[in-house]
Amino acid sequence: MMLSKEEIDRIKQSHDLVSFIQGNGIPLTKKGRNYVGLCPFHQETKPSFTVNPKRQLWHCFGCGEAGDVIGFVTKSQGIGFREAVEKLSKNGGDPKPVTPHPQPETRTPKLQRLLNRVMEYYQAELLKDPRGLEYLQKQRGITDKQAILDFKTGFASGNLLEVIPDDGDIVSDLKTLGILNDRGKELFYDSVLFPLLDENDNVLSIYGRRIEDNLKNPPQSPFSKGGESVTHLYLPGPRRGLINRQAARRSKSIILTEAVIDALSLYNAGFKNVIPCYGVNGLTDDHLFLFNRLGVEEVYLCFDADASGKEGSIKIAEQLKEKGIKVFIVDLPDKDVNDFFFRHTPEEFESLLKRANPESLERSTSVSKREETLCEKTGHEGKHRDTSHIS
Ligand code: ZN
Repeated sequence: MMLSKEEIDRIKQSHDLVSFIQGNGIPLTKKGRNYVGLCPFHQETKPSFTVNPKRQLWHCFGCGEAGDVIGFVTKSQGIGFREAVEKLSKNGGDPKPVTPHPQPETRTPKLQRLLNRVMEYYQAELLKDPRGLEYLQKQRGITDKQAILDFKTGFASGNLLEVIPDDGDIVSDLKTLGILNDRGKELFYDSVLFPLLDENDNVLSIYGRRIEDNLKNPPQSPFSKGGESVTHLYLPGPRRGLINRQAARRSKSIILTEAVIDALSLYNAGFKNVIPCYGVNGLTDDHLFLFNRLGVEEVYLCFDADASGKEGSIKIAEQLKEKGIKVFIVDLPDKDVNDFFFRHTPEEFESLLKRANPESLERSTSVSKREETLCEKTGHEGKHRDTSHIS
């Protein structure tokens, strides 16, 4: 079907741009002949997003994006021109609410650079000290080393203080970041680490999982404080940034897990379209913004099979539905995703997805490979001597 110029003009005229954008959840205020607001397409604290009601055009002086109502829909929903036109002609006054860009990180550029460097150091440590990889491979069943590298995993061996210059400035900056605690000890000592990244690969936060379960004597631990358990650690401050955000570029269908290692387990099993939350209440504005921006259409919630996991998925399902995303809740037969793959195959997970949504199209690469009868294992042979032959 060809779209005639008349048809397109009619669709444009049937939408008042100011109220359309406001209806998408972007507050606008009148300023002279125009309306201004915070741009939904880049991070800003002062409004540079401008709508001209007379010409029915919008323009952002901050990021340079501009267009008409169709352009607004293509950009905000991550869809093509034709699809945007169809949506506008179908549900004229009922647009999908846009999630505005979350507020920018307030860290200074100097601290941001330092945090990025510390994470790089931890990533190098993962390859030097065998304990982190051993934990992931032997205790958590993450057999594909490339999966671990794709998650930009690091390991805190506890030697950070030996490699940083004995310079008061850096030590106090590391304390400000939370990498060192008040007593000058490394927060993440003996943990595998996963950076939570922004779209430019800046480290916004870090999730750490201790390789030893020392829950038996938490009061003795110097790391337990303020309700934070000793096995799960985050850098102090808001949980900003995402892990494996590329998933939403690859697929309009995303699997959300309750925990980071659950996501890594799925990725390891060939389900690359997975993104973790940070606990049962751990769906953030960063998730919502990404899904909205890249037009994610459906989400499979794959939380723990306990009461808090179930409650959490119901709450998160509501939040996602409000954004116009279809949600399917996956019923796990085991306590969590990581546990599942110790007993079950990717095919069995595939059938859980099917049960949650009979029309599901998503499949793991290993399932589709097996179907192509290419039985050979994907060969990411680890260089590390301790890692290359664990299965
Ligand atoms: Zn902008």
